[in-house]
Amino acid sequence: DNRPSADLAAADSHNAIDRAMSTWDDITCSDLGIFEVPYDGSDTGFIAAIFNPFVDEDLGGSFEYISDVMHGGWLQAAFFDLLTEEGDGSQFILGATFTIVFTDNNGDLIDLDKNGKFDVAWREVYYNDTFEWKDGSRFDVETIALHESGHGLSQAHFGTAFLSGGNEVLHFSPRAVMNAAYSGVQTSILQTDNAGHCSNWSSWPKN
Ligand SMILES: [Zn+2]
Repeated sequence: DNRPSADLAAADSHNAIDRAMSTWDDITCSDLGIFEVPYDGSDTGFIAAIFNPFVDEDLGGSFEYISDVMHGGWLQAAFFDLLTEEGDGSQFILGATFTIVFTDNNGDLIDLDKNGKFDVAWREVYYNDTFEWKDGSRFDVETIALHESGHGLSQAHFGTAFLSGGNEVLHFSPRAVMNAAYSGVQTSILQTDNAGHCSNWSSWPKN
């Protein structure tokens, strides 16, 4: 709500992100009880606040905890350029999810509850406004929100990419929301996405 795309009304991107989160919440093997924390006008974005000193634009942000999965909205090219060594990340990164972790006094990752997984504080999702996001443009906002929300809910990438028969169209096998690149509208959960989610969350809150 506070960082909409230049191409989309805040309500439209808000609703697309809501639908994406609901799609994950609807998976029946887990009972996460995902709910939306209403936007209260405060500045959001731990990662935005960290990157702010390194770009000319004002990214806003604050070091406050907002939610376990925080959709931080749309940021400009300068932010995404910082994410690759070559400084060209804005050309190919559609969205990015960051994991904020707990560490010990040495800065090492910790596993206080001894469940074999490092302890995550929360995750933040940002979308790249270098691309065009309006209705009918190349990239579908709900599709990308669904993928980034998958990262927000602990999933990694899945599937192998290949180029088909000379037309240089990217395909994945198996097709999954969690494929590492965009290959068309995908607003429902596929088999491996479901399996990954259930493996992470089916015994929640007992893991
Ligand atoms: Zn991804």
